[in-house]
Amino acid sequence: MLAEAAGLGTIGKHGLLINPRFGPNLRIATLYIDVENLPVNNINEHLWIRKFCQKCNNCQRKCPGSAIYKETKIFADGSKQCIDYKKCAIPFANQYNCTVCVKECLFYKRGYSKIKEKFHRKYLDLGKK
Ligand code: SF4
Ligand code: SF4
Repeated sequence: MLAEAAGLGTIGKHGLLINPRFGPNLRIATLYIDVENLPVNNINEHLWIRKFCQKCNNCQRKCPGSAIYKETKIFADGSKQCIDYKKCAIPFANQYNCTVCVKECLFYKRGYSKIKEKFHRKYLDLGKK
């Protein structure tokens, strides 16, 4: 969620950050630093991905543990839960960390720019009708 807040990408239906350069294929870590007046980025140009995920659902269909929620749970404090961790744990342990949700994500298969272009064209075209 911090990476999303920093504008580095958007959390996909599978609960992983989708980044324009690496898709869902990256590991992220938080560094806490002690710097005053650090500029804060409040702009995230990747939030359209949420809409795309609502139509796609590929990771949810292909997940061997049926662990990915079709509707992401959103709690009162704004935090989200995208997967059932107990259901994920079995394929994750049995299939070498699984990673089906990464490999099946369209942002891994096709790349960010192609999807963005097609998705925006389709939406803009629909808006004209
Ligand atoms: S790691 Fe495997 S089981 Fe877990 S959410 Fe991803 S696809 Fe499903
Ligand atoms: S596979 Fe589709 S629904 Fe799942 S995170 Fe990737 S783009 Fe979103």
